[in-house]
Amino acid sequence: MPFTDNRSFKAAPRMLVSADGMYYRTPDGRRILDGTAGLWCVNAGHGRESIVRAIQDAAATLDFAPTFQLGHPLPFVLANKLAAIMPKGLDRIFFTNSGSESADTALKMALAYHRARGQSGRTRLIGRQRGYHGTNFGGMSVGGIGGNRRGFSAQLWGVDHLSHTHGGTAPFTRGMGTTNQDIAGELEELVALHGAETIAAVIVEPVAGSTGVLVPPRGYLQRLREITSAHGILLIFDEVITAFGRLGSATAADYFGVTPDILTVAKGLTNGAVPMGAVAASREVHDTVVDGAGPGIEFFHGYTYSGHPLAAAAGIATLDLYAEEALFDRAGGLARRWEEAVHGLRGARHVVDIRNIGIVAGIELTSREGAVGARAMEAFHRCFDEGLLIRVTADIIALSPPLIVENGQIDEIVSRIATVLGQID
Ligand code: PMP
Repeated sequence: MPFTDNRSFKAAPRMLVSADGMYYRTPDGRRILDGTAGLWCVNAGHGRESIVRAIQDAAATLDFAPTFQLGHPLPFVLANKLAAIMPKGLDRIFFTNSGSESADTALKMALAYHRARGQSGRTRLIGRQRGYHGTNFGGMSVGGIGGNRRGFSAQLWGVDHLSHTHGGTAPFTRGMGTTNQDIAGELEELVALHGAETIAAVIVEPVAGSTGVLVPPRGYLQRLREITSAHGILLIFDEVITAFGRLGSATAADYFGVTPDILTVAKGLTNGAVPMGAVAASREVHDTVVDGAGPGIEFFHGYTYSGHPLAAAAGIATLDLYAEEALFDRAGGLARRWEEAVHGLRGARHVVDIRNIGIVAGIELTSREGAVGARAMEAFHRCFDEGLLIRVTADIIALSPPLIVENGQIDEIVSRIATVLGQID
């Protein structure tokens, strides 16, 4: 099983069999409040009728069609809808099946772009410590989570990592901090070290999610944009978690007012209902690759299931639903209430830090000696048994409920966590 302690799971399997709205159900009929939107993906809540119907209709109409040298309508419809909510100018869309594939596609696009400009010497890729860009070789290599890398002996070469953004941040900072603000300046040092002519792209999550919700300091992303632009380096935002309303806007790029050259999404694109990811590229990147190529296939890359009819149908219904219910605005309107509620856990047993932005939060616990992650994992199991789904990474609890969450459910999430933390050593 993926990212699972298989022996523990086998000893005590925790199963989910159905879902509706804000709740999962277990085989014995218990309701589990979804504090994590599944895996940060079910932004509109579970079992949404219009998405179910769209998938059923697509399956009955066109179960599969190749998208190599052929087209079918749904991915084009979705591409237009997606382009309309991407940051201005990022309106060239390529479909994948996951966040990992989106990351590797974006990195390959960056290399193809420089090559098409006659700068094939630009091969270095720069990621960030505590970054997560999925589990494929490109994403793993630019990612900065030891556990994802150490077990595998080979990585891409020519990869550097910037420092993560949480180093000097005071505990219990709400939203963006003001310390540590010049940390993006490290990129200038890497440029000085290697030469800009060797660097293809910088890839970051605007807010690091999987390593425990690390909110950048004010001005950080703007500074990365300035430095990359000054040196002809492409800037890639991995918005697999942050897109589709998590911060109260369509993208984090919008929220922070910084436009990258390439932006990756997945998860919330289909409300989690069918696997799908996408990469949005600027016209400059797209046109350079397409116009710069000789006759024939311009971007020699793709997946059997790129633009799959069921996924595209789910994506169209999902983006329509987000718009009809104004869910991004709803999330933005809840953000202050969310902040107050999660910071109410300050003072709860074991809690050493809380950070938040939009409708996402990280609650960091002290680690047990010699057993990093054990305390949070126990909290995860106990919360589940008490009817709440949380997500844990090392000793950090990450929360990201569906954007339909009600105030009472926010309070319930917080109070159940406080109770469980009080019960565990
Ligand atoms: N990038 C980011 C920022 C993610 O959070 C994730 C998944 N948590 C991925 C990439 C990988 O996505 P997937 O699991 O769909 O491959």
